[in-house]
Amino acid sequence: MKKIAVITSGGDAPGMNACIRAIVLTAYQHGMEVIGFRHGFRGIVEDLNQPLHPNDMRLVSQRGGTILLSSRYPEFKQVSAAKAAAQVLDAHGIGALVVIGGDGSFRGAHHLNQHWYGQVIGVPGTIDNDLAGTDTTIGFTTAVDTAMEAIDRIRETAEAMARVFVIEVMGRHAGFIGLHAAIAGSAEGMLVPELEPQPKLAEIADNIKRARSAFPDSSYIVVVSENLWPGGVSQLAKELTQATGTTCHAAPLGHIQRGGRPNAQDRILSMQLGQAAVHAIIDGASGHMIGVEQGHVVEVPIHLTFERDKPLDLRLVNLQRGLQQLNFASKVG
Ligand code: ADP
Repeated sequence: MKKIAVITSGGDAPGMNACIRAIVLTAYQHGMEVIGFRHGFRGIVEDLNQPLHPNDMRLVSQRGGTILLSSRYPEFKQVSAAKAAAQVLDAHGIGALVVIGGDGSFRGAHHLNQHWYGQVIGVPGTIDNDLAGTDTTIGFTTAVDTAMEAIDRIRETAEAMARVFVIEVMGRHAGFIGLHAAIAGSAEGMLVPELEPQPKLAEIADNIKRARSAFPDSSYIVVVSENLWPGGVSQLAKELTQATGTTCHAAPLGHIQRGGRPNAQDRILSMQLGQAAVHAIIDGASGHMIGVEQGHVVEVPIHLTFERDKPLDLRLVNLQRGLQQLNFASKVG
């Protein structure tokens, strides 16, 4: 009987547990055992193993976070760490490893694949959606829902008090959450790294001033990707307050975007990818990510997922830009 192992690594994402469930159930259906290692790659090296049985999978898909726990473990970049992991995997008689994680975790998976004879399969699990070769990643749409709900709440108080807010969303160095949350939250402004790697204060301030003078009783929200403005949105709000003469409020949404129950879309995606990962193992695949493109499951060489940039959807960029302008036009008109 073949044994497969699973880890969740790097930033946790809602839906990882649903993916683990699909992997365990599918593996058992095909007569394979599953072992989890807690805390990602560190857990393999330190042999923090945990057998996973279908009975343990009841009531896990609904939960955010990861039942296998995660960690950042930079030591895994060393060849000695990959070799140590290979030894532990061999000692357990494991033939294949599924890594659920983001681009860092996939670099780790690629690294391990070069030092271990077993099969290594990646499943994209990150709220940032910043992996090439897949339209979406586990946790992304739940994170966008969470950001949207937070923006809606801020909108209500901002509208009541005619306030300006700069709201920081996650995304690491990518603007997928920013773009989607800006559209869904009907933001007046959006700053994401792909479109404006170095946004100009004068331009943002000018837009706020024009909107304020045209419609002083209205709220104004700018969605800003994390790691974009030096000092974050608190600093940006201070600078904008000075530049516009209007108090600008900062709202960094932070880790609430990581947690929470996965939405239906993320649960379905997670289970689809988890099941496909086991099927790929049975078919003998290794060094591949299981992703989804236009509704179809795809297998992509894992190194291509982090070596290539994934562009924002231009149609959505144009949608937001057009609506931002129309919004402003309707205020001045
Ligand atoms: P994410 O997977 O969410 O992008 P990280 O970037 O923190 O998260 O990566 C998760 C883990 O993957 C790291 O803590 C490390 O153990 C491993 N990892 C990251 N980059 C590499 C690399 N270049 N080589 C080997 N392992 C890596």
